Amino acid sequence: MNILIFGPNGSGKGTQGAVVQKRYGVPHIETGVIFRENINKGTELGNKAKEFIDRGELVPDGITVPMILNRLRQVDCKSGWLLDGFPRNLVQAEALWKALHEAGMKLDYVIEIVLDREIAKKRIMGRRLCATDNNHPNNIFIDAIKPAEKDGKLVCRVCGCDKLTARADDQDEAAIDKRHGIYYDEKSGTLAAVNDFKARVKVLEVDGAPGVKEVSLALLAKLG
Ligand code: AMP
Repeated sequence: MNILIFGPNGSGKGTQGAVVQKRYGVPHIETGVIFRENINKGTELGNKAKEFIDRGELVPDGITVPMILNRLRQVDCKSGWLLDGFPRNLVQAEALWKALHEAGMKLDYVIEIVLDREIAKKRIMGRRLCATDNNHPNNIFIDAIKPAEKDGKLVCRVCGCDKLTARADDQDEAAIDKRHGIYYDEKSGTLAAVNDFKARVKVLEVDGAPGVKEVSLALLAKLG
C-alpha cells in the first residue's frame, strides 16, 4: 500500500497521517522528521539541511529527492509506505512520479487535507499546549476546543490545569506565512504538486475544517 498525504501546516496532517499509518501498518515517512533526526545526530546531511530549515526554506531538491527515493528503497518499505511532507513542489512531484514509474510501483491513495489558508494560520497561532498532557487539545481560535476559564485565567479544557503555553514557533507569524507561501503556491509549490497528481490519479480530498475525530472518520470512509 503506497500512500501520499498532503495538507498545509495547521491542517492536522500529522494527526491524520498517524491514523492512516495505523490502518495500513506501513512505515510513516516524514521528510521533516528525517531532517530533524539527521540534524540531531550531526550527520553531513543534517548539517547541509539545517541552514535551510532554520530559514524556513525548502531544503534543495538535490538533497531532498535522493534522500527520500533512497528511503523508499529500504527493506521496511517493501510492502508499502505512507509519505508525508514529500513532494513539496513540482520538481519533487515529477521526480517521485518518474521513480515510481521506473520501479513499476503504483500509488494506491493520494490524500489531500483541504484547509483555507487563514484558518490554517489561526489553528497554528491559537494552539495552546497543556503541560499535563500534550494530547489535550486547546485552541483559543477554535470554538470546539477553546480553553476553559477559571478565575479570569485560561485553563486546559480537558484537565483544568492552568499551565497552558504557546509554542514559540507557533507564534512566529513570518515563519508561518513563509511555510504557507510554499504550500499554497499553485505555480510551483505544494499545491502545484497536488494538482500535478490530480491530473494523473484520483486524489481523495478531505475537508480539514471539522474537528480531528470528524476528519479521521471522513478520511477512513473515503479510504474504504
Ligand atoms: P516539516 O516538519 O514537514 O514542517 O518540515 C520541516 C522543514 O524541513 C521544512 O520547513 C523544510 O525546511 C524541510 N523540509 C521538509 N520536507 C521537505 C521537502 N519535501 N523538501 C524540502 N524541504 C523539506
